[in-house]
Amino acid sequence: MSVTPMGKDFVLSVEGLTVSFDGFKAVNDLSFYVDENEIRVIIGPNGAGKTTVLDLICGRTRATDGSIKFRGKELTKLKEHQIVHAGVGRKFQNPSIYEDLTVFENLEISFPRGRNVFGALMFKRDKEVIDKVHEIAELIFLQDDLNKQAALLSHGQKQWLEIGMLLIQDPELLMLDEPVAGMSVAERKQTAELLNKITKDRSVIVIEHDMQFVADIANRVTVLHQGKVLSEGSMDKVQNDPKVKEVYLGH
Ligand code: ADP
Ligand code: MG
Repeated sequence: MSVTPMGKDFVLSVEGLTVSFDGFKAVNDLSFYVDENEIRVIIGPNGAGKTTVLDLICGRTRATDGSIKFRGKELTKLKEHQIVHAGVGRKFQNPSIYEDLTVFENLEISFPRGRNVFGALMFKRDKEVIDKVHEIAELIFLQDDLNKQAALLSHGQKQWLEIGMLLIQDPELLMLDEPVAGMSVAERKQTAELLNKITKDRSVIVIEHDMQFVADIANRVTVLHQGKVLSEGSMDKVQNDPKVKEVYLGH
């Protein structure tokens, strides 16, 4: 893990992160730190650079400058699949599940396949996978839908299934881009419950607009504006920050 000048260990340390698209700095000298077992929410007006920050962390977009340290590993030098392997999972805005497969099959194919598994080991392996699929299905409220074709799930259930497909890989850092968009109020409450449960074992970064949902999950909130941190701290602190009010009223 990386150590900041204050001497504290963080799961994720982003420092001086910058990306320039044809001279336009979508993320501009950004620094923030995520603790173990923390749920960090990133908010900010459209175009603030929120999605780009996740793209940079997961290696989809290359940084122009700066550093992203995850458990001491410099992610800016790694390829996307290496970052996944290091323990970073990322959910995009639209669920990418296999609509033709069942819930069970979607979870099963997401289970990380070990190498060198032969013969007698296979049986043990199968049981391990099946147990894990059931455990995750219960966590994502789909234990009664394991044999249902994914296409038949509600929009909210599809979002949960995709979260489950990431959880079965047991990431140490999970990043979610607007996970409750299009969900009912009841589904949002359940999603908050789910996120609060899974941070017992990991850290989570969530981009979200729904302030009730943010209040239900956030440990700390980072407000982005023009690719920089405008304000950071508790929900109360950022909501009462005059700089934040100004940016949101301006929109
Ligand atoms: P947010 O998620 O906060 O709404 P984004 O991170 O999607 O914002 O975008 C931040 C800014 O960067 C926007 O002005 C967007 O148009 C621009 N941008 C994002 N990705 C690219 C890209 N690949 N090429 C050029 N501009 C981009
Ligand atoms: Mg976005």
